[in-house]
Amino acid sequence: MRRKIIAGNWKMNKTTAQAAEFAKDMAARVGDKADVVFCVPFTSLAAVVAAVDGTNVSVGAQNMHFEESGAFTGEISASMLKGLGVKYVIIGHSERRALFAETDCMINKKTKAALANGLVPIVCVGETLAQRELGVTIEHVRMQVKAAFDGITATDAARVVVAYEPIWAIGTGVTASASQAEEACAAVRAVICEIYDNHVADVIRIQYGGSVTADNAAELFGQPNIDGGLVGGASIKADFDRITNYGN
Ligand code: PEP
Repeated sequence: MRRKIIAGNWKMNKTTAQAAEFAKDMAARVGDKADVVFCVPFTSLAAVVAAVDGTNVSVGAQNMHFEESGAFTGEISASMLKGLGVKYVIIGHSERRALFAETDCMINKKTKAALANGLVPIVCVGETLAQRELGVTIEHVRMQVKAAFDGITATDAARVVVAYEPIWAIGTGVTASASQAEEACAAVRAVICEIYDNHVADVIRIQYGGSVTADNAAELFGQPNIDGGLVGGASIKADFDRITNYGN
């Protein structure tokens, strides 16, 4: 039985003081129905790690570089995150792919570097509206998963979280239907089974992301292949705990 995992992607929001205050208050309310992760800006990581200490909440970063150290001005490595007490890192979010030119090859390198440093990568995949309308959603998502997992062992793959996030649903208020989300998450699990085996496919956790709200979370998270969510806008709202306590 896979434990659900609900991660908030705070994106580029909140000063360090605001982040610590919000995290402390929210951590007391998110419950323990699912694993909960706050993915906060780099500048707030240390403060939020301290604010959620002793609670059910873990802390994640929203990006990292794949190299360990060196002349990469402005970048942050996996070991730097690990040293702060960070447990998760979002890799290949569609905003990073689209706005910061991240390629499948970079995403594969970042996934490997995160795993090598004991971080859990939350690897994002998902189609554009044009791809969905063309009928190539499943092909596209399968290709992104294959590229992200290239060269990763079965043992490591089982630790990864995949977030299926249709780009047309991110930040738009247009949520995928439960059946659209389930179909794509099932396709992710099927390709993981093809690459690895039934065991990895059974244990790997696959989230849905894209305009998840307190009102639609229970139906989405109730689908057999959806193991929780990656939540953007709603993760910094005062009622995020209604999402982590979905269905209660
Ligand atoms: C996201 O940024 O990963 C996301 C899913 O955003 P939103 O929930 O706002 O659609």
